[in-house]
Amino acid sequence: MKYIFITGGVVSSLGKGLAASSLGALLEQRGIKVMMQKFDPYLNVDPGTMSPYQHGEVYVLDDGAECDLDLGHYERFTSGVLSKFNNLTSGQVFDTVIRKERNGAYLGKTVQYIPHVTDEIQNRLDEVTKRNPDVDILMTEIGGTVGDIEGHLFLEALRQFAHKVGRENVCFIHVTLLPKLRAAGEVKTKPTQQSVAKLREIGIMPDMIVCRVEKEEELDESNRRKIAMFCNVDEDSVIPFSDVEHTIYEGPLNLRKHFMDRLVVRRLGMDIHNPDITQWQEFVDKIINPKHHVKIAVVGKYIELQDAYKSIYESITHAGAHHSTKVEVVRIDSEEVEEKSAKEVIGEVCGILIPGGFGDRGTEGKIQATQYARENNIPFFGICLGMQIASIEFARNVCGLEEANSTEFDKDTKNPIISLQEEQQDIESKGGTMRLGSCESIVFSGTLASKLYDNADRISERHRHRYEFNSGYQDLMQEKGLMISSVSAKEGLVEIIEIPSHPFFIAAQFHPEFKSKPNKPHPLFAGFIKASMDFCGCKD
Ligand code: GLN
Repeated sequence: MKYIFITGGVVSSLGKGLAASSLGALLEQRGIKVMMQKFDPYLNVDPGTMSPYQHGEVYVLDDGAECDLDLGHYERFTSGVLSKFNNLTSGQVFDTVIRKERNGAYLGKTVQYIPHVTDEIQNRLDEVTKRNPDVDILMTEIGGTVGDIEGHLFLEALRQFAHKVGRENVCFIHVTLLPKLRAAGEVKTKPTQQSVAKLREIGIMPDMIVCRVEKEEELDESNRRKIAMFCNVDEDSVIPFSDVEHTIYEGPLNLRKHFMDRLVVRRLGMDIHNPDITQWQEFVDKIINPKHHVKIAVVGKYIELQDAYKSIYESITHAGAHHSTKVEVVRIDSEEVEEKSAKEVIGEVCGILIPGGFGDRGTEGKIQATQYARENNIPFFGICLGMQIASIEFARNVCGLEEANSTEFDKDTKNPIISLQEEQQDIESKGGTMRLGSCESIVFSGTLASKLYDNADRISERHRHRYEFNSGYQDLMQEKGLMISSVSAKEGLVEIIEIPSHPFFIAAQFHPEFKSKPNKPHPLFAGFIKASMDFCGCKD
């Protein structure tokens, strides 16, 4: 196994994850088997209990691990299916060390940051190595910025690890920012020099420096020479990573222009053929040169946050590219719908999507948006909370069940259309206790869901929710025209609902957005975009 470690310098939110994923994609196109993972120095055991305001989207893996949204990038840019072992936090490290201490694993010793904590970090690298014997390169991104107190132990662990496995098997990549001072009219390299000096203090000598710049030209010859000289790297190992022009999927193409993948394999002593980036290029071309245009409303409560519905926006991009369509996403604040009306706030769109969410803020606005879609035959797609909202709306406005609600929002509602399963009722602990991860469900033939899934009768999708469709209302809702088109194979829980009398109204209890890929859009997203194109009269 060879190892790539990606660190960040100068500022946070550099796009380190994107740079790493882009490199991962390129290496994979060279025929190398890569696996990507993230080490996060915060003390939460996982980001599952953090608000989207803190952390953006919580991404969910097949095995139910709730993790950093960068793992979403990794799964979209490379083919590896990740597991809970691929996102390590300081919280997990300390949790393990303290448990071990209580269990007597270090009997007689003083438990210390070095070696016990740093060993635990290295153990994870060893564990992932052992579990994935077919992987050629394990890429690990370290969250945070070099110089942060909390990241120090991770960097020390990497230094030790590189020494242990042999420096020739490790490539350190440092991603930094070249800030531009408007008054001086040029980019500055000093923060990069200083951040590399910080890394060297710890004993890590980066092999490559990736410089975030607005435009590639900003990293000119003289800047490149300066960085190379001060940071002890070859000039061709100073690589610009500019802001993407149209789409993040240009990332691999931008790095390829500077042969970053070739430099990396040479550094690691691997001799593998050139990458074949034709398919990737074709996908990007489809995004850049669309034939059609549709407008989709996403009605949520974190719409001002770019990262809160990351995977949903990416899935929409994949589905749009598949249909050569530019999808303009109009982000609608559900609370604004409550204050005004769905018609006024949403207006004319080709489709309405209600994403997942927690807590009752903004739910009434989502219900109104759903009613607007249902009554006006606008294509509708509900995801997780969006499916629960669609069920409540149908119960209230079609079945006449007054005050129908989820017990998440109104504990004493007369009509608990969405409620807790018995096994969830006594759970008090909040971390990792929802219904999480992949689960198989049965799709009934003759339904829209079955058509979209290409007549598959079994599907496997990822979940992250606590509440469920209350089966006590199933018969009444079905009599009134709601169709249950999929249920979980084991427990018979409702997984997909649809309204056959509507041109396209579908909602899923799971999160399809966690399984969409650039050249393989998720069938529900692809179907939704196609229906939206039809609704707005796009002709092929
Ligand atoms: N809050 C809902 C539940 O816990 C929906 C969760 C979600 O949308 N991810 O069931």
